[in-house]
Formats: sequence, C-alpha cells, structure tokens
Amino acid sequence: MERDSKLIEYPNREEWDGLYTTVSCRRALSPSGLPGIQYALNPYGGCEHGCIYCYAPEVTHVQWGGWRVVRVKVNIADRLVQELPGLTGTIGIGTVTDPYQGAEARFMLTRRCLEILKERGYRVHIHTKSDLVLRDLDLLSSMEGEVGVTVTGLDERRSKMLEPGAPLPEARLRALRELSAAGVDAYALIGPVLNHLEGHEDEFCDAIASTGVRRAVLDRLNPRPELSKRTDRMHVRGSDVALENIRTMLASRGLTVEDAFREEARRHSPCRL
Ligand code: SF4
Repeated sequence: MERDSKLIEYPNREEWDGLYTTVSCRRALSPSGLPGIQYALNPYGGCEHGCIYCYAPEVTHVQWGGWRVVRVKVNIADRLVQELPGLTGTIGIGTVTDPYQGAEARFMLTRRCLEILKERGYRVHIHTKSDLVLRDLDLLSSMEGEVGVTVTGLDERRSKMLEPGAPLPEARLRALRELSAAGVDAYALIGPVLNHLEGHEDEFCDAIASTGVRRAVLDRLNPRPELSKRTDRMHVRGSDVALENIRTMLASRGLTVEDAFREEARRHSPCRL
C-alpha cells in the first residue's frame, strides 16, 4: 500500500500562471509517424500540466524544470496558412504537448489553427487532458476528426499530485460526455495505467462508460530514466494487472478497446501517455 505522505506536492495552478514565453516558429507542421496522422501541429512547446509520468522532456531534450515554462508559438497560424497548400491527410494536434493547456485560454492558438483547418476541410486528431476543448465544440462538431481525452483515474487528490496543472478527472469525464453528446468522435485515452487503479477498475470503467464514448485506448507507463526518478520518488509504477482488468471491464460494457503500445507512437507522442 502506498503512503500518500511520501508523495511530493507540486505548486498549484495559480503559481504556474505567468510562466509563458512567446517565440516564433519556423514551421507549423512536421511530418508525423503516428498511425493515421500525416502531420503534427503543436501550438505550444512545454506543458504546464506537469504530469510526473511525462516523457516528452526526455524525447525533446528539455530539462524537466524548463518543460513547464511554456513556449507560445505566436506565429503558428500564419505559418500554417503558408504550409497547407498542397498537403493532404489528417493533422494531429497536440502530439507532443497539450493544445488545451492553460496557455490556450489566453492565447487561443489552437482555436485559430482549427479555424484555418476547418475552412480548408482538413481532418484533425486532437489529444488533450483538458475540458477547455469544449470551448471549441462549435468548430469540432462540424469538422471531420476525432478527439482523445486522457483520463488516468477518478481520485482528485491523486490527480493533483500526478498531473498538478491539469483539469481534474471529473472535468475530463465531462469533456468526453459533452463531446460525445455533440456528435464528435471522442474516445477515452486511458494511460498510463498506474498502480493506484488496482482495486478500483470497476468504478473507473463505470465512469468511462457513463460518458457515452464507445471507444477507449489503453497505454502503459514508458519508464524512461529521468521520468523514473520522479515516479519512483512518488511510489508510482505502471500496472499491467489494472490494464488488463480495465480492458476486460470496458469490453464487457460494450466499448471497443485499443492499445497505444506501438513503439513508433510512443516515440512521437508523449502526450498519449
Ligand atoms: S503527459 Fe501530456 S499533458 Fe502531461 S505534461 Fe506531458 S505533454 Fe503535458
């Protein structure tokens, strides 16, 4: 049994405010190796959600402290307009960092890019942990594409420790519920499946199924060295037991369950943790 008293507390959301820096990007899009995604778009560098299990800093060679200082790519919409002519395929939004992290409420780069993609008829695939995605329902409900919302558990206290800058589980479930109700192809991205879910799988699967989504994607913890220092300190580990239980329980509730275990995807898409 873990002892919560040993877990590390991170600064609350207000203390993160102001940790933004504006930058100009050379390109808006990069070719993607993710299944079903031809180009990746990430309006922000770094991520204020600060999930302790995030391996994006290691993949992108950024120090953990620096990762949480968000680089706002203020010219990304202009670049996108220049780069789109002649390109075809699905645009993945948030393949490395969350496109609906707190910065988006202020800078609205994701929304501007979505407007551009909608005007030109592009299909999008969005990954997020934030209910801020609901702000853009007006666009998403009339675009072709899909939205994955990550849910790693139901325990609010645990979420604040593991994902200190991210919206709480109930907000993410609400996002899934409202996206589904609006006709958006939404799915629950459940991962990484961690040990705190052991013994709580039934309740967790009930909550996921109650949102109305018909599909879930499961992912494992990616134990890279720097990441493991954080998770070890907090007695957090991946759980194949919980993962297989969730797979079975969601299937029994009528959901289609897929794996996000492809090494190719894990290299390119930290936010799909
Ligand atoms: S796992 Fe995703 S949401 Fe969490 S800090 Fe990393 S990029 Fe952000």
